[in-house]
Parts: sequence; structure tokens; C-alpha cells
Amino acid sequence: MNNNDLNAAVQVRDIHKRFGTNEVLKGISLQAHKGDVLSIIGASGSGKSTLLRCINHLVVPDQGEVQIGNDILRSHRNRKGICQTDNPRLLEQVRARLGMVFQNFNLWSHRTVLQNVTEGPIHVKGRPAREAAEYARELLGKVGLSNKCDAYPAELSGGQQQRVAIARALAMDPDVLLFDEPTSALDPEMVGEVLRVIRQLAQEGRTMILVTHEMNFARDVSSETIFMHNGLIEERGHPKELFDRPQSERLQQFLQPMQ
Ligand code: ADP
Ligand code: MG
Repeated sequence: MNNNDLNAAVQVRDIHKRFGTNEVLKGISLQAHKGDVLSIIGASGSGKSTLLRCINHLVVPDQGEVQIGNDILRSHRNRKGICQTDNPRLLEQVRARLGMVFQNFNLWSHRTVLQNVTEGPIHVKGRPAREAAEYARELLGKVGLSNKCDAYPAELSGGQQQRVAIARALAMDPDVLLFDEPTSALDPEMVGEVLRVIRQLAQEGRTMILVTHEMNFARDVSSETIFMHNGLIEERGHPKELFDRPQSERLQQFLQPMQ
């Protein structure tokens, strides 16, 4: 394909994915430029998580390609009909440049907060342990957890755990951060502390793709918002346009409970 945008940090071209007979992504294309905050909204089951996972091939697409910087991830079906990444070594390199934050934090429960943050830099990037620990402390300070370095995840609140997960993603110096509903598993009183950290990252000019149900937040921080419905992008645009003047009936219905 020739539609290569030289300034894009992420380009997704015509991604398709089915699970059995369930066609979950039916041809999705999107771009995020450096410093963009792209938010993805849509009903449960519309394919948001699958799309985000296709970007780092945690879910391998059936069709279509993903470009991160200049690197293009493609996939094929093997003889057993299973989708595989074409170039596993390239995927490994690309993944190291993509930070992902999940709904359920996914911290290592038997490691301290500090160890959770240093693990990737030491074992994936080969950073010296002392240097990794110093950087981890700096990042934990940034997310307001300087005093929790030696705690274990179970000793922290959900909001604190998610902030550790964000520090862990940042420790790899990713080009792009992917967030999959980072506040959905939190008690309401903890949502704000996590959104504050994400907002700060947006203000620093981090490139982010954020799946969220926090509509006011998405409206506030995004440079573009995408509304997914049944595996397709139903509407996209500047968040203030999209939220204030939704064009499609489906988006109007989706946003109705907010009015
Ligand atoms: P969303 O994040 O928008 O709620 P998902 O991407 O999680 O949507 O799921 C979209 C659809 O794909 C759902 O019908 C879900 O059941 C299905 N699905 C997601 N992951 C898998 C999987 N690993 N195996 C089978 N079906 C899946
Ligand atoms: Mg999801």
C-alpha cells in the first residue's frame, strides 16, 4: 500500500479480525501523529480492545497492516489456519516501543512496585539495574508513588496499582502509549488520580491511543475521537465536534445517557 504518512507514529490499515464466525473488526484504518491523543469510544463488544491488541499483535490480525514509525507489522495464516506475525523479531522490537496499560493493571504480584517498573528495562532493554532503579524511582515520583517503591501490589489501592502500571509502561520510553479502559476497574473515588496522570502525559506531548468510557475526559484531552460500532468506525472527528454534534444516529444514541 502506498498511503504512507511520513509523520505518523501509528498507522493502522484495513485491519480485519474474526474469532470463529464472529467478525469483530471489519476493516479499520486510523492514524496517530506524534503527540496526538486518539480516543476510542463505543459500546461494549464493539471491538475496541481487539483493535488496540491488534496494534501490538497481542491479537494477530487476519488482514491489514500496522505501521509503527517506519516499521510495518504484517501477518499471515499458517497451514493450520492460525494467524501469525510475519516477522517475530521485528514485532519484538516494535513492542518494546509500545507501552500498554490494561484495565486490570496486570502487575506482577510477587514483585515489589520498584521491581515491577525495572523488570522491562533490565530484561528487555538490558539496562544496568542501578540505572533502571534510579529511573523507576523518578517515574514513581511522577505518578505520586515515591513512598511505595518497596510495597507489593496487593498492598496498594486500585488507583495506586494503575499508576504503577503507567510508570512501568513509561520506563520503557515508549513512542506510543496504548490504554485499554484504564479506569474501568477502579472505584469511582480513584478514577480522578489516574486520569490526572494520563492528562499530564497528554500535556507532555505523549502519543497515546486511549480506549475509554470517560467521555468528559476524552472530550477534554483528545486530538481526535473515534466511535466504533460493530467492528467498524462509525464516526470520527475532533472530540468537540463529535461529542457536541454527533452526526450518526448510533452515536447520538450512544451519547444519550450523558445528556
Ligand atoms: P470491546 O473492547 O469494545 O468491549 P472486544 O474487542 O473486547 O470489545 O470484543 C469484541 C468481540 O470480540 C466480542 O464479541 C468478544 O466476545 C469477542 N472476542 C474478543 N476477544 C476474543 C477472543 N480472544 N476469542 C473469542 N472472541 C473474542
Ligand atoms: Mg474492551
